[in-house]
Amino acid sequence: MSASAGPTTPPAFSPTGTYVPGEPWSSGVRRGPDGALTVAGVDVRELAVAQGTPAYVLDEADLRERARSYRRAFEAAFAEVGAGVDVYYAGKAFLSVAVARWVHAEGLRVDTATGGELAVALRAGVPGEHIGLHGNNKSDAEIARALDAGVGRIIVDSLVEVERVAAASRARGGAPAPVMIRVTTGVHAGGHEYISTAHEDQKFGLSLATGGHVATGTGAQTEDSPAMTALLAVLAHPELELLGIHSHIGSQILDPSGFEVAARKVLELRAALAQRTGFLVPEVDLGGGYGIAYLPGEVALDPDRIAKDVAASVAASSADLGTPLPRFSIEPGRAIVGPAGLTLYTVGTVKPVRVGGPDGEAGSTIVRTYVSIDGGMSDNIRPALYGADYHAELANRLSDAEPVLARVVGKHCESGDIVVHDVLLPGDVRAGDLLAVAATGAYGRSMASNYNHVPRPPVVAVADGGTRVLVRRETEDDLLALDQG
Ligand SMILES: *Cc1c(COP(=O)(O)O)cnc(C)c1O
Repeated sequence: MSASAGPTTPPAFSPTGTYVPGEPWSSGVRRGPDGALTVAGVDVRELAVAQGTPAYVLDEADLRERARSYRRAFEAAFAEVGAGVDVYYAGKAFLSVAVARWVHAEGLRVDTATGGELAVALRAGVPGEHIGLHGNNKSDAEIARALDAGVGRIIVDSLVEVERVAAASRARGGAPAPVMIRVTTGVHAGGHEYISTAHEDQKFGLSLATGGHVATGTGAQTEDSPAMTALLAVLAHPELELLGIHSHIGSQILDPSGFEVAARKVLELRAALAQRTGFLVPEVDLGGGYGIAYLPGEVALDPDRIAKDVAASVAASSADLGTPLPRFSIEPGRAIVGPAGLTLYTVGTVKPVRVGGPDGEAGSTIVRTYVSIDGGMSDNIRPALYGADYHAELANRLSDAEPVLARVVGKHCESGDIVVHDVLLPGDVRAGDLLAVAATGAYGRSMASNYNHVPRPPVVAVADGGTRVLVRRETEDDLLALDQG
């Protein structure tokens, strides 16, 4: 998304050359007349006073626009090849009642992965038939709740679960439970790397790879893959309706070829099942993982381009296989909510640390400025968990001070408590300044913890110059309420 011009002052100092507007910031982010950041017309200084820091700030119009762009891009591209498509918002990226309502109002459905996420989607009023339930280890209670809510699909992750969902469905005696089988195609993608392996050494899904050979009286015979075995098991259960095959290949994917290779393998499995049983699985889900820009200069996956590429590729695969196209679905999470969010922090201690020369020599003059903020790994675990990179800028003012190489760190008792590994900040950055970290809308609040008994920050939505608290700040009373003494 490109941001349109707004009220900006030419920056006195531009360490990155971006200085907003533009990615990785949400489309509503500007520099106001005196150099402070505004989001959807709200000055971050006022927001910090009213809400405190740290605070997650969510640009509602930007989030809704991303939801619409994905839906429209995929609907148009798949209609072009004669297939229908549904877009499910992957709620694990960030789910609140308001966000579930927004994405549903924009024509998306909602994917959940636990009873808790399901409860939020239901509380938001998302109809059961527009909700999916994932999870590699669903409890009986979660399965029961999903069936009671009439969810549109349960994505089954193991052979054992086929039996468990069938038993729960049988106990209810209603319509057959709609299930998809999650398969692992051997395609794993994320970032620019993409590798293909015969067997996936991970906990999700059922492999497409045949398990080797079993000796029989008449010689070696190929065993069915776990994926094929599960599909046949579903078909054998009258309490289950085989709705589809599901494949999710990874996250933060910037190269479309992984989606195409995985889709091809899923369509081959669908054709093989049809040949064997005469049953043509009606739906195929291609999962999520659409990559976004975290740093200035990074380019997000363009929904129009990826939709066209994938639609053309699945149409070609289906034609090769001689099978009609199924209905498709996709599950973007990060791409909808990630760029719409930023985190606002207050700077505390600023500490210059001599870090040695490029080859680690002592006595060098290289200095790294550690800028401590009032949050950290408890509100953004991704840098510590995945080595993820983020971008920060001084948010309350512009400065013409010489830039310094800075590292933005939190207040937790871990040296790995890093929010931004390397960023150029004005050399006069000081206690009391506000710092904004871009693109924290996904997997920030949803992965937040109370490490060091730090209460989790609020999620504040901004739209048309107004603010609205979607999730309030936790308090020490909230934390102590759990402690039974
Ligand atoms: C995590 C996940 C998604 C969403 O991934 P994003 O990278 O946020 O788009 C979609 N589907 C499944 C099954 C997932 O596990």
